[in-house]
Amino acid sequence: ATVPKLTGKRPDLEDLREDGLEGRRKANAVFVVLARNGDLWAFLESMKQMEDRFNHWAKYDYVFLNDDEFSEDFKRYTQALTSSKCYYGLIEPSHWNQPDWIDEEKATAAREDMIRKKVIYGHSVPYRNMCRFNSGFFFRHPLLANYDYYWRIEPSIKLFCDIAYDPFLLMQDEKKVYGFTLSLFEYIETIPTLWDTVKGFIQEHPEYVPEGNAMQFLSDDNGETYNKCHFWSNFEIGDLNFWRSEAYMKFFEYLDKAGGFYYERWGDAPVHSIGAALFAKKEQIHWFEDIGYKHEPFQHCPQGEAHTRGKCWCDPANNFDWEWYSCTNKYVGMFPKS
Ligand code: GDP
Ligand code: MN
Repeated sequence: ATVPKLTGKRPDLEDLREDGLEGRRKANAVFVVLARNGDLWAFLESMKQMEDRFNHWAKYDYVFLNDDEFSEDFKRYTQALTSSKCYYGLIEPSHWNQPDWIDEEKATAAREDMIRKKVIYGHSVPYRNMCRFNSGFFFRHPLLANYDYYWRIEPSIKLFCDIAYDPFLLMQDEKKVYGFTLSLFEYIETIPTLWDTVKGFIQEHPEYVPEGNAMQFLSDDNGETYNKCHFWSNFEIGDLNFWRSEAYMKFFEYLDKAGGFYYERWGDAPVHSIGAALFAKKEQIHWFEDIGYKHEPFQHCPQGEAHTRGKCWCDPANNFDWEWYSCTNKYVGMFPKS
């Protein structure tokens, strides 16, 4: 299997050191963390690893977002882990709460139905708020207004390898818009009408869907049905301006008005994935094969030479990429060997 060749050389830490890390070229990029105060200790675990594996030399700042005011403890303990700047932002209620045009009776009935079907987070309104916020609002937060690229970090993740090059510069230099490590199938119970809604949007706006997009990742029959594949969005390195583009903004608005964030339980993972796959070219989606990553219950462990180069500590045999429930074979399949 091959993935798109990078056009430029990937600058690694050794190259960067030649010019001195102080004045090194950086991207206009930031870590983005959506968290509750109660996520503090689980998040510090993630943050400590990000600092140790990458950010102690890369020195990118952090933006923390919350629908509630961050506690003094949250601010103190996160800032203490890094020499970079941490910014803490409140999410405006209209970007977070269930909109008033959602029919609450219908939404309640949908949640009760999901409880019966034992759908994970099926009962939860806050989880739905979170999915909608990540899908359509995080990139509009004022604290992110001046940044171009972001790396999403969640609590309780693992980073297995040293990251000795700058993934943000790779995104920028190679004109990538979306980067992932893991992909898999979505639970259909959470998105029964999502694909029909997507098709409605495409029919209205074919002009937003370029030639050479990644539809093949999403559909095995040329767009007729959704194969449920999505990039796992708890890890994302992305281009904020892509989400802010007219195509994606209109797309989100269309989905939002359809109500599926509340009448079903549409996740930000399928929504981002479908947006990236349809409105970008497939080469603009990058698989960070060399970043060892775990979010329960799945992990991506770099293989072979990449494992050595990254000084990784994960077991290469414990790797989700080619398991039956992974979609990474469909990603790789878009780039046949030439
Ligand atoms: P899962 O990965 O799908 O099981 O969901 P998580 O519980 O990890 O939530 C996804 C992300 O959103 C994490 O970064 C959480 O810290 C954050 N998050 C989830 N619910 C809320 C919420 O109600 N408020 C805030 N501020 N953050 C939340
Ligand atoms: Mn999570």
